[in-house]
Parts: sequence; C-alpha cells; structure tokens
Amino acid sequence: MILKIDGNLKPYYAQTLCMIFFPGVKFPEGEMPGAGVPEARFTVREDETGADASATLILDEKNETRASRCDIGDGIDAVRARQIAAGCAFYEAASALIGIRPPWGVLTGVRPAKIASEMFRCGYSSDAAAAWISEHYLTDPVKAHLAASVAEAEHRLITPDLVRKCSVYIAIPFCPTRCAYCSFVSYTSKKLLSLIPDYLIALRENIRTVFNTVRRRGLTVSTVYIGGGTPTVLTEDQLRFLLETVAGETDVSALSEFTLEAGRPDTITEEKLRIAKEFGVTRISVNPQTLNDAILASVGRQHTAAQFFAAYDAARAVGIRHINVDLIAGLPGESTESFVSTVDRITALRPDNITVHTFTVKKSAEIRQENESVYDREGLTAGASVAYSQKAVTEAGYLPYYMYRQKNTVGNLENVGYALPGAEGLYNIYMMEEVHSIFAAGASAVTKFVSPPFEDGSCRIDRIFESKYPYEYLKDYEGEAGATRAARFDAAAESFYKTYF
Ligand code: SF4
Repeated sequence: MILKIDGNLKPYYAQTLCMIFFPGVKFPEGEMPGAGVPEARFTVREDETGADASATLILDEKNETRASRCDIGDGIDAVRARQIAAGCAFYEAASALIGIRPPWGVLTGVRPAKIASEMFRCGYSSDAAAAWISEHYLTDPVKAHLAASVAEAEHRLITPDLVRKCSVYIAIPFCPTRCAYCSFVSYTSKKLLSLIPDYLIALRENIRTVFNTVRRRGLTVSTVYIGGGTPTVLTEDQLRFLLETVAGETDVSALSEFTLEAGRPDTITEEKLRIAKEFGVTRISVNPQTLNDAILASVGRQHTAAQFFAAYDAARAVGIRHINVDLIAGLPGESTESFVSTVDRITALRPDNITVHTFTVKKSAEIRQENESVYDREGLTAGASVAYSQKAVTEAGYLPYYMYRQKNTVGNLENVGYALPGAEGLYNIYMMEEVHSIFAAGASAVTKFVSPPFEDGSCRIDRIFESKYPYEYLKDYEGEAGATRAARFDAAAESFYKTYF
C-alpha cells in the first residue's frame, strides 16, 4: 500500500488506520501505483484549539475524499486531536469506497477499555463514556458499551494495594501438535519434546531465581500463571516436579489465583488434574476453540469435541475451583451457525470463564502461507460470530472483564474474557492492564517491572527477556551461566524497585 502524509501525523499511526480496512497490508518503500495497490493520502493542519484533517483513499482507479475536525477537550490533547481528525476522515473515505464500517471505528489500540477508563477519570459515567467513544471514534455503540463494561470491571477488581504485590508467569513452550494458526514459540516434534526433562531442570533454577528476587524485594505474590504452549503436555511426574518446585518457593494456599493453562483436551488426564488440585491450582483452562470436529481437524488440533467434554467433566469432578474455556471465532472454514452452536453448548456447561478470541492471521502461521486470501470472507463470518457470542454469553449471566485487540485479527475484532460474577481470571487483568510487576520464568518469558502510576496515570515498565527458544534457554542455565543470570536479574529488580518504590 502507498502512504502519503502532509502534516504532523506519525506514519505508524496512519499505517494502523489503513490496516483497519486492509488487515495485514504492507507498505514497501518505493511501491508504485497499480491495480490492486491501494493508496492513502493524509493532510493534517493544527491550531491551538484542535486539528483539521482530510484523507483520500484511491483503489482500482476509484477514489473518495473526506474531511474531519477534532477539538481539544475532555480526554483529547493535541496529539489525540490530530489522530482522531485524520482517523475519522480516512474511515469515512474508506467506508464510502469499500462499503464496510468496521465496528471499532478508529479506535486502534490494544486496550479499548483504556479510553473508557480515562473518561471515568474525567468524571464520565459508564454510559457517558460509551457515548463519547462512539461519537469521537465512530465506534459501534455495542462495542463502545463493551469497552465501558470492561473498564467498569477493571475498576472494581484493580485495587490500589496491588501495585506493591506481583504475579509470576511460568512458560512451558511445548505442545502435542502445532495448530495451523499458531505463531507462538512452541516445540511439537518428538525430538524437541525430548528436551522437556532438561528444560524442567533449567526452569527450576529460573523459578527459584524469580521467587528469591520477589522475596528480597518484600513483595507478596498475588497470582501464579503456568502457560504455554500446553503445560499439560508434561507427563504426570513432570507436572508434579514443576508444581512441587512452585510450592517449594511460595505458599500456594495464600495465592489469590493459581492457573494452569491445560489447554489441549488431549493432554489432560484425571491424574494430572488431581496433581494440579493437590498443589493448589485454583484455575485451569480447557480449550476446545470450537466444538466442530471437522474444523478442529483442519486447523491441526488433534482432539475432538468429545475429548473436550471428557476433560471438562474430569476437571469438575476433581474440584478445581474455576474452569476457563477458550473459543476462537472466525476459524477458517467455520460458519457462523457452527460457531453459534459451540457458544450455546459451552454456555449450557456453565464454565466459570469463557474467553472468546477472534481468529488472527499471524505472520509465521502455516495458515497464512497456505491461504493468503483468508481475509476475503472471514471478516463478515467472524463479525456475526463475535456479535452472537457477546449477546449469548452476557445473557447467560457472564460479564466481560478483560479485553484486548491484536493486529491482523479478522474483521478488526477483539478478544474478550467473560466471567461469572466473582470468578474473573485475575492474572489476565493484572497482566493486560499492567497493574503490577510480572516476574517470568521459562523460554520466551518476559519479566515486566511495573512502577506505581505517575500523576497522569502512566507508569514506567522495564522488561527482561528470557531466550526465545528452549534450546537457547537451556544454554543460559548451564553450569555457572545460571548463577550469572540470576545475579543480573536480581540486580535489575533491585535497581528498579529502589528507583520507583
Ligand atoms: S495449543 Fe496454543 S501454543 Fe500450542 S500449538 Fe496450538 S495455538 Fe500454539
């Protein structure tokens, strides 16, 4: 796509606007106009009260131009004024030319609830914040209300004491097979899965480092989340070894939440669930993504809907306190009717949490290499599926409590976590809203040190990255290397906490 900007508008932001209508589009330097190459032109002019913008979209010898103005005011500074003016001008031009109105309008950030929170700080009620978002960002009123509802839940669940606590994340980047849409770091081949025993030894050292540092800083651990990958790919003995390691470092009975992302139903056994319960796990995810067996097979998930129900029933029978079920709307080949049936059957089960993701085309996923035209159909299907899930799940008594958006999500849609009242997945909120530090262990894990909020509501975040791939990670913890890393990690935490706390 060709981009031309006249005035004060960051190219990255203009690209983000273009991707609302052209998900996944690239902006190669020196691209020449031609059939199928869209071109966007922006002009932005500012004065002390706000910004005026015009935008033109040219596509296949047709073009549309629109203009828009945004004044500085409640929730709007000069930067936001030019972004909104340029965004609304482009949105109207592109809608007129292409004939669709993406439901989030020009609200492009990862966390749409953040804008609603900002409006709460300006004294707006939930309804007023939703109306303000709709008016300024051209957001569909249903989505604007969703953002305001999530912000309300966050305000209820994020208490001021949390900043002086922390959470711990532990990564198990191994899976039984690779889902076609996955671009996480996750090892699936037999040879790579054979690294697990060594990986668990290195991870134990890393977990001890993390908890030592947490103790030295005098922090209380609020939640622990074991994610992946698929942590239940571990054998029963391996899972016991991992959970024993965690229980040896912290009083798991004092945690607000201890999650094991079981994920793939084909890896769950009753014995693994009993071990999880024995070591204090309070929340697990059992994720069918869809209950359509043909779609499951086509995306490389080697389990059936029946295996999901068996795993779910076993988790209930063992008595794990909270069960989350993940679904994906808009999987390639899945009709709205099929997804509607999945939603209905899942809500009838009454899991504590239902998380509805929207299918995202990721760069390294096989599905993208095989099917570049996946954008053509799924926006509409996913839009209807997501809309149905929001209505059906909330009518069944669930409340939305966390939400995020990703680039290249079909239909430019969102991922939403719903919970029965009192059963919210706390780690998800703390991590998404950067409420407090997340100390992380394992390959590809990222520790985030989070400061208390400054006056403007922002905070300082420093990150420490573990090696991305398990075989690199193992080298990091070989011999003396582990002790050196531990010392560096602790020094970084000490410096951050001395500066900001
Ligand atoms: S279960 Fe998750 S991490 Fe594992 S391959 Fe599938 S999408 Fe990737």
